[in-house]
Parts: sequence; C-alpha cells; structure tokens
Amino acid sequence: MTWSTEQSDELYRVSGWGRELFSIGNDGKLRIHPRGAEAGSIALHDLCESLVDRGVELPMILRFPEVLRERIEAFGEAFDQAIEAQGYRGNYRSLYPIKVNQQRHLIEDLLRFGAHRHIGLEAGSKAELMIAAAMLDDAQAPIVVNGSKDRRLIDSALLLQRMGRPVLVVIEKVAEARTIIRAAQELGVRPTVGLRSKLSSPGQGRWEASSGDRAKFGLRAQGIVAVVEMFREAGMLDALQLLHFHIGSQVGSILTFQRALREAARLYVELVGLGAPMGALDVGGGVGVDYDGSRSSGDGSVNYGLAEYAEAVISAVRRACDLSGSPHPDIYTESGRALTAPTSLLLFDVLDVEAPTTIAPTIDPSLALDPAIAELMALYGELNEGQLQQVFHNARYARERAAERFAAGDITLPTMAQAEALYWHLCARIRAMAEASDQPFEDLAALRPMLASTYTVNLSIFQSLPDAWALAHRFPVLPIHRLDEEPTEEGVLVDLTCDSDGVIDEFIGNASLLPLHPTRPDQPYILAAALVGAYQETLGDLHNLYGDPNAVHVSLGETGCWTIDRVVEGDRVDETLGYVQFDAEDLRHRLRQKAEAALSEGRLKPAEARAALRQLQDVLRDTTYLDPMA
Ligand code: PLP
Repeated sequence: MTWSTEQSDELYRVSGWGRELFSIGNDGKLRIHPRGAEAGSIALHDLCESLVDRGVELPMILRFPEVLRERIEAFGEAFDQAIEAQGYRGNYRSLYPIKVNQQRHLIEDLLRFGAHRHIGLEAGSKAELMIAAAMLDDAQAPIVVNGSKDRRLIDSALLLQRMGRPVLVVIEKVAEARTIIRAAQELGVRPTVGLRSKLSSPGQGRWEASSGDRAKFGLRAQGIVAVVEMFREAGMLDALQLLHFHIGSQVGSILTFQRALREAARLYVELVGLGAPMGALDVGGGVGVDYDGSRSSGDGSVNYGLAEYAEAVISAVRRACDLSGSPHPDIYTESGRALTAPTSLLLFDVLDVEAPTTIAPTIDPSLALDPAIAELMALYGELNEGQLQQVFHNARYARERAAERFAAGDITLPTMAQAEALYWHLCARIRAMAEASDQPFEDLAALRPMLASTYTVNLSIFQSLPDAWALAHRFPVLPIHRLDEEPTEEGVLVDLTCDSDGVIDEFIGNASLLPLHPTRPDQPYILAAALVGAYQETLGDLHNLYGDPNAVHVSLGETGCWTIDRVVEGDRVDETLGYVQFDAEDLRHRLRQKAEAALSEGRLKPAEARAALRQLQDVLRDTTYLDPMA
C-alpha cells in the first residue's frame, strides 16, 4: 500500500502542533522553518546525520534561537496591535521568567533579541536574581522578584534599586512587607514594590492551584489592604508601584484569563483609589502551547492565539481604568512556556525493539498432548468472528493456568515456552480478525498494547522529559525521517533508566501507542520530542546519573543554509559523578589500586591490567548515554 507524507502529517498532527514551524518534506523528513514558513527550512534528519558525523552524539537537544526571536516579536506585535487598536496609553513589557529555562545561552539570546522591546526578567530565587542583576543593562527593562525571600535577598534587591536598577520586589505575604519596610529604613532606600494578589477567579488545568484560596503565593483582599496601610504608616505609600497575579501555567481557555483579568483590573484601580501610585500591572504567565494540535481548551492545547490574549488583557485593564478614571498602567507579562517551548527539540535514537513473538509456533509432537498445550490448540478451532471475545478470554485463562502449573512444578520450561508461543500467536490472530471485522470487540483496546512493540530509546525521561514522567504531559513525539513510509508498528518508548516509570506510553491525541516503523539493521531510527524548550531542561534530574545531553544551537540565516552556532557539550560520566561528590581523581586512583591487586593476584598480566585500567578510566570521560556502535 502506498503511503503519503500527508497521511503522516495527519497521523502525527504535524500541521496542528507544528503551526508554521514544522512540516514534512516530500522526502519523508521532518523539517523546521525557524524563520517562518516562507524563509526556507532544515531537514532535521540531515542536520542530525551531519552533527553525528562531526562527533556530536545522540541524544541531543537542538535549540533554534531564531524561533525565540520570532516568539518575542509575536508577543510584542500582538500587544502593539492591541494597544494601538484600543487607544491604550500604557506600555507593554515582556518579562521572561528565568525558571522556565535558565540556560545562559538562551538568556543571552533572549536579552539580545528582546533589547529593542526592553524585555525584562522575572526572578524567583537568589540565584535567579543574580542572573537578572548581572545580565540586564537596560534601565527600562524591569526585574520583578517573586517567590520566597529572606532578608539577604530583600537587601540585595533594595541595593540594586539604589544602584539604579529597575527592580520591583513583589510582596507575596504580609510578613514580607514588614521585612521590606524595615530593610528599606535601615538601608535608607526608597523601595519599589509590587503586591501579588491571590485572585478568587479560578485557574485552570494542572496548575490551577496557582490561583484561588489554596494558592501558595499572594495576598487576599484583607492582606492587600493591610499591606497598603503598613506602607502608608511607614510613609512609603509611593513604594507601591505594581500589582501582580499569576493564575497558573498552560491555561487552555481564554475565558479563564478573562475572568482573572476582570478581577485584577478592578483590584488595580482600587489600589489607585487607596492612594498607591501604582503604574504597572503584571498579569503573570500562563499562555499555553498547543502541544496536541487540537486548538481546544484541553490540558495539552489552547483555544486562543496571542492576538486574542493581548486583546483580552488590554481591553480588561482599559475598561476598568476608564470607568474609574485611573491612568492606564504599563502591562507586564511573564509568559515563559509560550516563549520558549517551541525553541527546542530533543532528538534520540532507538537502540532496540522488542515485541511478543507472534509467528505460528511449531509444536513439538511430544508436548501436544499436554493439557496446557492442548487447551490452547483447541482454541484455534473456535476462532471465528462471532466468538473473538470468548476465545480471547479463554486464551488468557489457559495461559494463566499454564503459568500456575509451571509454578507448581507440573510442566517444564520448554512446555511453558510452547504455551506462551501459542498464546501470543492466538492473540495476534484475534487482533487481526477483530480489526478486519465490523463486529464489536470490546477487548481490542486491551489487546493492542499487549501486542505492541517496546522501543528502547537512548534517553532518560527523568533528565530530558520530566513532565512526561511526573505529570503525564504529552509532547509531540514522532520519527524525523521515513514519514513517506507507512508506520506499520505500534509501540511505547522505554528509556535507559533502571526504573519501570521511565516509559512514555501516553501520546498526543489520547493515544497509548505511537505508530512507528520497523527498524532496519545499520540504519539508525531517530525520533524527536518537539516543543520541549520550557521547563524540561531545568526540571530534569540525574536519575541513574544520566546527565545533560548535548545541546546544539542552529540558525538558518539569511542565506537559507543552516549553521551551527554553538555546541554545548553534555555531561560526561565524571561530571555527573561530581554532582554527587565523587571525585574523578579519587575514583581513578581506586581503579588503579584494583588493577594492581588483580596483577599481584595473577588474575591479569601486566599488559591486560594496563588495557583494563585504560578502558575503565576512559568510561569516566565518556558520555553518560549509550553509543549504539560501541
Ligand atoms: N510567573 C510566575 C510567578 C510563575 O510562577 C510562572 C510559572 O508557573 C510563570 C510566570 C511562567 O508561567 P508560564 O511558563 O506558564 O508562562
């Protein structure tokens, strides 16, 4: 049967989640368009082969700085248009929440591309404040400090203010207000602060608890009034310059934003009414990404675009201000996911494929009379369209009984192996008949995963796709080549870690199996997980000491030819060992002692001991991932 790239596009929903960024070429290769649909593209498989030829091993993260630039512009333009269309009199600033991806090169690119729009930074910890303080030079680019704070962090923020940096410390708890006032008095600084509101409007999706009464951060109405009074009493009412809220990440529905914005805009004008100068409203992050391409309000998608979002923000604030006669504030957004998710892609290779053997078994005549075998063989005679369900149930039961008899010592291992072979062959026959028939077969949903293949991939899900593990988040996953061939297999992906949780068995479109191709000897089969630029690198952990994979920055440039801007080498074994306080020098020394002992015990000859030691010590400088050729 012929298969078209259009069929692959539909199967993997590339046009849905890929927008204008991804497409499938006529050669069956996934392409990325980092400068937009019209400006040329890169075949990811060709790029990957070329990188591997240069010694950059899989798995690897590909980062596309031009996509980041496009995203910054898309946010900026959406707000420019909404501001102009509505005659809004405040400015717009995008603040990048550093926690979303703290990689230095990404932050450097972001500040470079966003400089003309005075892009700012949001810091949620001491370390992140240090990044913001050191990397931002623009007096018009705000630094907003959120999250938990101690006195030292507050002092640092106030000192930065004194140095002329546009830092706003956001008060999340009443106690923080006291500390800030005391610190400002002691340091002799006029502070500039924001208030974070715990809105009563509900959030949405997995992170909905970021809003509402149970939210971890923010002040309710009572707290806000108390803080205003504290600053008034301290003679520092002029410090209150910003209202902030954040209703959660990956907000799927524009309605959720609209409700929150209405409430926040009212709060803002009330604060102005209480005498606080204000001047800026920070609407937090939360703009979602259409991971599954469904353009819906579900967990993995969004039902709005940036233009609609910007319009909702500007109109809600303008309306509330105009009604109360307050000046229009500057608007800050803290969207991180929507800025960075599309900027990276994770490539990984398949190391091995396993599937139940479903070929017709040849039955050893001496075993045919064994009840375990005879029972299963008899079921072949009952296979017909109307009885599939019953035969399937009976086959399962027969297999279970065979296993019980094996455990009791009544049948031998070869008999058990034959029983298993018959069982899997029967299951495959049942599935084939059920798929070809129009009669309902309720257990097909259970049978398909049982017969599916297990693709072992060169990857740690804990390190590279932590949200897939922790939150069952579904990233688009697909082969980057052979998309002009029908994927005749169905599979789940298992990673390298010794953990049964290291599996991807949930895919976009609510699927539990991923359509895949049979692998070919001597031809690597390469898959991609797309839209992984937000949170994954940062949240990834060192389970089994699999470290950071290689990361490669790639641009298309004006010429339409791709260039490798930078290769950030992944962790080597000795580096990941260092994270858990094992010193490579000490380990080398201990290995040498072991080789010496083997030599003196006569287990190895001198040349063998030398070679063994070199081999073991080389592992310390090796990548933490597997080399399929080694
Ligand atoms: N701002 C704050 C205060 C946050 O806690 C977060 C993360 O949840 C963000 C911004 C970024 O959110 P997102 O990446 O969903 O835009």
